[in-house]
Amino acid sequence: MAKLTDPVTSLKGVGPAKAKLLQALNIFTLGDLICHFPRGYEDRTRESCIADLMVDKPACFRAVVMSTPRTAHIRKGLDLTKVQVADHSGKLNLTFFNSRFAAENLEYGREYVFYGALSGDYSGYGITNPVFELPEAPAVATRRVMPIYPLTAGLTNAAMAKLVGQALAVCDPPEEILPPEIRKSYGILPAEQAYRAIHRPVDMAQAEQARKRLIFEEFFVFSAGLALMRAARAMKKVPAYGDLRMEEFYQCLPFALTGAQKRAVEEILGDFGRGTPMNRLVQGDVGSGKTMVAAAAAYCAARNGAQTALMAPTEILAEQHQQSLARLFAPLGISVALLTGSQTAKEKREIRQRIASGESKIVVGTHALISESTVFANLGLVITDEQHRFGVGQRSRLSAKGEAPHLLVMSATPIPRTLALLMYGDLEVSILDELPPGRQKVETFLVGEAYRARLNAFIRKQVAEGHQAFVVCPAVEENQELGVKAASAWAQTLQQTVFPDLRVSLLHGQMKGSEKEAAMAAFARGEADVLVATTVIEVGVDVPNATLMVIEDADRFGLSQLHQLRGRVGRGSAKSFCVLTTHNRNPETLQRLKALCKTNDGFRIAEEDLKLRGPGDFFGSRQSGLPAFRVADLSMDMETLRSAQQASKDWIESFGQADTPEGRALRQRVRVLFDRAEGTMN
Ligand code: ADP
Ligand code: MG
Repeated sequence: MAKLTDPVTSLKGVGPAKAKLLQALNIFTLGDLICHFPRGYEDRTRESCIADLMVDKPACFRAVVMSTPRTAHIRKGLDLTKVQVADHSGKLNLTFFNSRFAAENLEYGREYVFYGALSGDYSGYGITNPVFELPEAPAVATRRVMPIYPLTAGLTNAAMAKLVGQALAVCDPPEEILPPEIRKSYGILPAEQAYRAIHRPVDMAQAEQARKRLIFEEFFVFSAGLALMRAARAMKKVPAYGDLRMEEFYQCLPFALTGAQKRAVEEILGDFGRGTPMNRLVQGDVGSGKTMVAAAAAYCAARNGAQTALMAPTEILAEQHQQSLARLFAPLGISVALLTGSQTAKEKREIRQRIASGESKIVVGTHALISESTVFANLGLVITDEQHRFGVGQRSRLSAKGEAPHLLVMSATPIPRTLALLMYGDLEVSILDELPPGRQKVETFLVGEAYRARLNAFIRKQVAEGHQAFVVCPAVEENQELGVKAASAWAQTLQQTVFPDLRVSLLHGQMKGSEKEAAMAAFARGEADVLVATTVIEVGVDVPNATLMVIEDADRFGLSQLHQLRGRVGRGSAKSFCVLTTHNRNPETLQRLKALCKTNDGFRIAEEDLKLRGPGDFFGSRQSGLPAFRVADLSMDMETLRSAQQASKDWIESFGQADTPEGRALRQRVRVLFDRAEGTMN
């Protein structure tokens, strides 16, 4: 018996050339072939007689060849073979293009099973290029459900089906990971059956069952992985924080916390008092005040003698957090250190020393700087801001470390509940569903090119009132074909022809890290009136003086991303605006964009976005930190996800510690999946 890890070249008829074709589909081993699932099926099980065939409805029928096939050479490269067939109900003309196979194999007087669709008009009906085989031969191309595979140039569907069949003939499919109890209670096929049936179902119902099982399996592995992570952390003991008094902190705040913020803080304090590491996600729309919740957590940790690391995705965000936290904590006698790449080696060394000695209680920095080589005296709490860059793999690595600090993940992207459940199955969730009082809605408009002059005047007006404006473009370089406004070209146009008297600056992702930071910082200091940028500004820098967000070619962005961008304004006391421009006339696209004008509720927008674009696009697949699912389509299979998640919970509870073959196989699969997720993260 061959093994799943054997190379495809171990199959008969697979040489280096074919192996190369398969590589293009990420197929290297027999296991990869077996896991190369059909993307759909063609149901060839319907049988009919000639008289009952219907136009454009493919079917199988048995018929006898009534004439010797005749081939006519029409022109170079085009041979037509014609033959007449008949059954008890009628006669039919068949035509084949360039088919030597038909010309040579269809025998006068013999019966075949054909499969094809009737076509025709007043001049007569017939079938073009039907497939056929002998009734006594095994059903390969007729009387069955044909799998349709994802393919690559040079590889036909029939060839792919054959290769998968060969692999399944010499090799057992992947091991069973679902214990019999779970298969029974969820009505799930055994692995062996499912892996075979998905490639060769007897009917569509069985294909569906096999698909269901494999989706279930995929979700089961993933959520069991998260649950195992969670269980492993729950086993760890950390000293429960004895001092949970917050009055002093609250007295220092310039405002009262919102009800949602208070609730989140209470939940965090509850975790701190429990004696096991916290795993919590704080989810809140832009401006809901997540930083204060983080600050409250850091304060409590500091009171209990523990250090906090606050990790931000960019240096400038780290700096901003450090400044606001330092201001907040100064009266409380807690110092807040900053650790960034642009500091000198000497500065960094000194700061690291203070962290190692335990003198610095709160450290703010970028992920890399804090996680790499920084040694803490007593790290009690890790907070990561802007979670979607902090994926499953990183979380699992963090919890695998010797000590188990409390973990607080802050998400600025409102994620639909269903998806949050999937991405953060290992975390408890606190939701900030309330904005601080007095917050004004960002007035949002959708305009076409006809409004350009008015838009320019509006930008001018905002600047004249002492405010600043963002202009976001979808690309860096001009792209003629798409007609998309590129940031650098547009910045030049605005500065030279439209606003020669204003200060226009530029920020895009292809600039060096330090240049980006400098441009952003200068804008935040008010040294430019208009900042033309790509989506690099999406992630959180606070410029309260910016009151206008213009998004060019808004149809090129996802709704959630637009919402995120819009969140860059409306952070000060002045009324703020968002203007979406588009050339697009597609009613559906316009409808989608208008949804944004109507609501400021990030969760509703996120749900809408998930429905329209699916989860892959939702975060940009590279950033989600989610593994790639092979069979599952997250927007369609939520029901299966829920039951798989329930099943994995039940499983961990009743068998999590037991050493069973399924358990071992499952753990192995989890390791592979999470390692792969790690590789997809930035
Ligand atoms: P986000 O959730 O987007 O990270 P921030 O924490 O940056 O939001 O808060 C946005 C702004 O709201 C900040 O200027 C912050 O000081 C202010 N803020 C936070 N909580 C409150 C509150 N309870 N009342 C008034 N203002 C608040
Ligand atoms: Mg924030």
